[in-house]
Amino acid sequence: MQTTVSAASELLKKYDVPGPRYTSYPTIVYWDDDPTVEEWTTSVARALDETEARGGGAAIYIHIPFCRSLCTYCGCNTRITRHTEVGKPYVQTLLKEWSLYRKRLNREQPIPITEIHLGGGTPTFLSSEELTELIEGILKDARLTPDAEFSIEADPRTTTVEQLQMLARLGFRRLSLGIQDFDERVQDIVNRIQTEEQVRAVTTEARAAGFTSINYDLVYGLPLQTLKSIEQTIEAARRLRPDRIAFYSYAHVPWIKPGQRRFTELDLPSGEEKRALYELGRMLLEEAGYIEIGMDHFALQTDSLMKASTEGALHRNFMGYITRQVAPLIGLGVSSISDSWDAFTQNEKKLEDYVARVEQGEIPVFRGHKLTKEDRVLRRHILNLMTRFETSWETAELYVPYLETVNDKLAEMRRDCLVKLENRRCEITAEGRPFLRNICMAFDARLVRKVPTTQIFSRTI
Ligand code: SF4
Repeated sequence: MQTTVSAASELLKKYDVPGPRYTSYPTIVYWDDDPTVEEWTTSVARALDETEARGGGAAIYIHIPFCRSLCTYCGCNTRITRHTEVGKPYVQTLLKEWSLYRKRLNREQPIPITEIHLGGGTPTFLSSEELTELIEGILKDARLTPDAEFSIEADPRTTTVEQLQMLARLGFRRLSLGIQDFDERVQDIVNRIQTEEQVRAVTTEARAAGFTSINYDLVYGLPLQTLKSIEQTIEAARRLRPDRIAFYSYAHVPWIKPGQRRFTELDLPSGEEKRALYELGRMLLEEAGYIEIGMDHFALQTDSLMKASTEGALHRNFMGYITRQVAPLIGLGVSSISDSWDAFTQNEKKLEDYVARVEQGEIPVFRGHKLTKEDRVLRRHILNLMTRFETSWETAELYVPYLETVNDKLAEMRRDCLVKLENRRCEITAEGRPFLRNICMAFDARLVRKVPTTQIFSRTI
């Protein structure tokens, strides 16, 4: 059924509510059963043995929190500084943390690694020497699987040719550039000025150095954005033709990120206007040959993310959409999140606390969660919806009693033609895709049982 413009607008109003983004299930605010360090490392060791038996390895996420200036929309864990000398001791702490894991895991054979991702903050805040020391230090006593992939997030304003060439020599092939918007007024209010020429130069140099997949992060819903500015931004991205584009929804959470107080809600496009920005961006990207994958992600037919989507292998975790399910994911660095598949943990969020814990010889975890059977089953359904737009609980393995309530919770969305429900199967329609987060919320037993009394989530539209 085709939804009319006014009906679509009503739907956007109706379902524009606060809700999780589901980079994990349970969402962090519902983590309530901390593993001990023993339990945590045992669970990582078990996941490692299982993946190794299948020819896989661990994914390592390394968080570099430093940035030279604050982008006011930022929702990441950052430390703003121009003192580049903080990089070296931080690399030493990361390597110490990694050696603590190696000691605890106590393996006779080297740790197999299938993925390394450097995120931030700004990983290219580190110099070429520091990045080399970090990666070589991690790989010492480790073994790369034949299909191992290295990826890095970079800031086009500061990344140098030398860094790109060195990263390529170390084995990095995927580069993600933070861009957000090319419009000068928008760039000014979010305090992130970068020209199309700068982005073009880094893109061209990265390809020449050997990077085979380049992603641009764009954001819709930023202050002062208009249909015209989005059109110009997407046109610029189309000219530069990255392999992937993440077109994220801006999450306005000034009560958590005070930097977002530089502008007010009046500067922000509202629910319906904001969705129109996405729809225009999507149309322009699809016209240029990009295919929408999961939530807010686009890829060219030739990119590995597209291939993973076609083969049903797409996965989503704290790093966004990735080409395969990996466990364990070991997060190193301040605030990093780890996932052994049976449990989650998060490292200390304050830099000084993180460093102090590592210096004392402790795995610097400050909170975590051991997943219950219900958590594991519901996570599978939320992942299915996020990566394939459908899920089914016909088999005993994917069934828990909570699922008996899902059809009732989705009844209104079914009447609005956002989902199709058949026996124990839920499929999201094309009209339902903008409401993916709302649909996942029906599968979120923890949210249903305990609705937050204060606002902690950004709005779903
Ligand atoms: S958006 Fe990126 S570069 Fe800007 S402050 Fe946040 S982490 Fe740093």
